[in-house]
Amino acid sequence: MTRKISILGATGSVGTSTLDLVERAPERFEVVALTAATNVDALADAAKRTGAKLAVIADPRRYEAMKEALAGTDCQAATGDDAMAEAASGDADWVMAAIVGCAGLKPVMAAIAAGKTVALANKESLVTAGQLMMDAARARGVEILPVDSEHNAIFQCLGSRSCDDVARLILTASGGPFRQKSAAEMAQMTPKQAVAHPNWSMGAKISVDSATMMNKGLELIEAHHLYDLPSERIDIVVHPQSIVHSLVEFIDGSQLAQLGPSDMRIPIAHALAWPDRMETPCERLDLAAAGRLDFEAPDMERFPSLRLARTALEADTSRPVVLNAANEVAVDAFLNGRIGFADIAAEVERALDEVEGAPPASIEEVIDLDQRTRAFADARMAELA
Ligand code: NDP
Repeated sequence: MTRKISILGATGSVGTSTLDLVERAPERFEVVALTAATNVDALADAAKRTGAKLAVIADPRRYEAMKEALAGTDCQAATGDDAMAEAASGDADWVMAAIVGCAGLKPVMAAIAAGKTVALANKESLVTAGQLMMDAARARGVEILPVDSEHNAIFQCLGSRSCDDVARLILTASGGPFRQKSAAEMAQMTPKQAVAHPNWSMGAKISVDSATMMNKGLELIEAHHLYDLPSERIDIVVHPQSIVHSLVEFIDGSQLAQLGPSDMRIPIAHALAWPDRMETPCERLDLAAAGRLDFEAPDMERFPSLRLARTALEADTSRPVVLNAANEVAVDAFLNGRIGFADIAAEVERALDEVEGAPPASIEEVIDLDQRTRAFADARMAELA
């Protein structure tokens, strides 16, 4: 049977990898809707190639250009929050959530409310509203399929088992491009050096998050919500080769791991075909050629973001919202040359200390706290710049 799919964030790294797989198996998938923020050309091109019915451009200033690019096709151009919600909740039965940042939260909630199966790459939505999102998914009977390679690995190791027999989860981390740099060296690193990840090709924001290791901190919070396990039962181990994508330790002492090459098309394919499997064009893992697998404990001194994320998770549900928003603003400022690399974690810590807020009881309250944190962090960036 054909699976009807929508891809939110279709022009990004995860979005284009998803399209690549879908276009290789046209008999299995029908593309219903695609979205982007500003990239009209790539969105229009993908809509024409796949025969999508709806193409939503988030930036209203790009709407006229979008309409023009789709003139004479059967694909409708749209913009605005309602159109984004329509892309997430319309005709599709499977939705790829691959918008970057908290901007992905409302569309993900719309997909859940409409009962869609959600393939979740957009970790920031789970970090900021994990409890609300998982409650909504349970209430609606919605399956959340983790796309992040670590959480997808855990999902594959667990199969249909519950976490009752799980002792702990072990998230692997590559350590990023600065794994062997001193704190003083890291402080001098440029955006170009920070986005040059040794193993993975990804969007700019997650690449910087990997360099600070905030990415692993966000993934810790993500794992907590997806698998309903407390912070002390989720460990992080640095594994520079990115071959073992994560592990599950059971109460009897067994550990199961999922291995594969560093190609996001593998976890994406797993979610696309779930509960079946599909072929991918990915290179096969050759362990003899790889030779060795190394593991080491993360360095919490050089990578303070890890400590900040764990502390935020262990506090209350307001702190991950502040952590995430301050990090999004700081990473953007770093990428635009306004602050240094070491300022990112320092500014996140400052926001965590200074932006107050109660645990959010609704998505509106999450968004309100997110906005207040952004205003605080924006003011700080202006001072620093
Ligand atoms: P990219 O920056 O490559 O792509 C982001 C996508 O979201 C683009 O389509 C972009 O459109 C769109 N977008 C950006 N801002 C907005 C907005 N405000 N409203 C609507 N759409 C928006 O990101 P990635 O693909 O790297 O990452 C996407 C998500 O997946 C992130 O949450 C990331 O953490 C997660 N992830 C990514 C992995 C990877 O390998 N890349 C691995 C695991 C998780 P436009 O192109 O027009 O700007």
